[in-house]
Amino acid sequence: DVVTRIAPSPTGDMHIGTARTALFNWLYARGRGGKFLLRIEDTDRARSTEAATQGILAGMDWLGLDHDGEVVSQFARAGRHAEVARQMLAEGKAYKCFSTQEEIEAFREAARAGGRSTLFQSPWRDAPPETHPDAPYAIRVKAPREGVTVIRDEVQGDVTIRNDQLDDMIVLRSDGTPTYMLAVVVDDHDMGVTHVIRGDDHLNNAARQMLIYAAMEWPLPVYAHIPLIFGPDGKKMSKRHGATGVAEYKAMGYPAAGMRNYLARLGWSHGDDEFFTDDQAREWFDLSGINKAPARFDTKKLENICGQHLAIMEDAEILGEVAGYLEASGQPALMQSQLARLGQALPFLKTAAKIYPQLLEKARFALVERPVDLDEKAAKQLGSVSNGILEELTPHLQNVSWKRDDLEEAVGRVMEAQDIGFGKVAGPLRAALAGRTVTPSVLDMMIVLGREETLARLKDFMA
Ligand code: GLU
Repeated sequence: DVVTRIAPSPTGDMHIGTARTALFNWLYARGRGGKFLLRIEDTDRARSTEAATQGILAGMDWLGLDHDGEVVSQFARAGRHAEVARQMLAEGKAYKCFSTQEEIEAFREAARAGGRSTLFQSPWRDAPPETHPDAPYAIRVKAPREGVTVIRDEVQGDVTIRNDQLDDMIVLRSDGTPTYMLAVVVDDHDMGVTHVIRGDDHLNNAARQMLIYAAMEWPLPVYAHIPLIFGPDGKKMSKRHGATGVAEYKAMGYPAAGMRNYLARLGWSHGDDEFFTDDQAREWFDLSGINKAPARFDTKKLENICGQHLAIMEDAEILGEVAGYLEASGQPALMQSQLARLGQALPFLKTAAKIYPQLLEKARFALVERPVDLDEKAAKQLGSVSNGILEELTPHLQNVSWKRDDLEEAVGRVMEAQDIGFGKVAGPLRAALAGRTVTPSVLDMMIVLGREETLARLKDFMA
């Protein structure tokens, strides 16, 4: 059975690259009835923070990437890592290295001077135990000195690394703490991970991690190293290109479904499909569809895909995400009455906006309280042109059924009586209802606001 994982280091804001890696692993597992696990790689005590861990959990939650089982802390498993190092030692797959930092430096210095490889070659590799001093030691894995290691990668193909480029890396430091390389392999093995899908910045690590699998005679996972995300200029995506943090995208009001769709397309493709549902993504996602070339982040595309999702999302889901967006961006929550009106406006609005700030801007008329504040253009509409129009309109609106056709007819009657065009009526009406001159259609606004509120707003601006 398929078991995938995401193994972020909690050392800063959750990067969209991490979110995309999580998404690929989630899609791969969920599309195959497998498991998707979460491990926090908090071995680096100086750089790991609880806030970063919480940020990762929040980001996963926002994107709907649910994981199976408990969150695994890598640091908490240090004892197990040490145990594996000792087992390798006992089986002769690893050895005690008593070289001091100074000795290692001296080796490198000499190698550099002599034009040789600076990869450290420990004199203790084959030293008989009776020569061992009573001194602190690190445990190093015995790497093959000849031949090659081939990483069979589902994305990169076969990647061959010469073994003379791999050193006898340390798995357990002289202070008894495990190294990162060891921890990753032991954790992946113990967690039953079958597929390691991660950024290709870890490709070289794979060769070194394979040494540990070999030493322990553990089966290798399937590797898929995915190209990193680039900015529009073809350089690794960074803050220079704009927002890189998952939390930032939530705070900017991108719908999570659109984000998932866009991130899935970022480096993976299924024919020409740009827009798809989660169900389709789960069904279609496969390692063979991952592109070898880095994908470029394109905010326009992201926004367009978000708009397509917004148009088909359930109203309840939208209302929930709007609340999350307002909180994440530090804005006040909507009141119950505003939520009710927004809910009524959604059928008209959700096809007209791409992200939540746009949606709320269009919904502004439904969220404001009387008296509606006017911007400059709306004030102008109501000041000069409108005289009499609102007064004329009011009796027509008092008695019609509040249906689109009848409302349209009522507006039409005023146009006829005054011998004016639609704009001359709709302009002042729009301004009075919304306090703005760019709004959804006046008919949509009236339907959402209802008779009582509509008439009250008109009255506010009558002489
Ligand atoms: N902790 C690593 C990172 O955040 C991931 C390691 C892995 O996936 O094997 O880049």
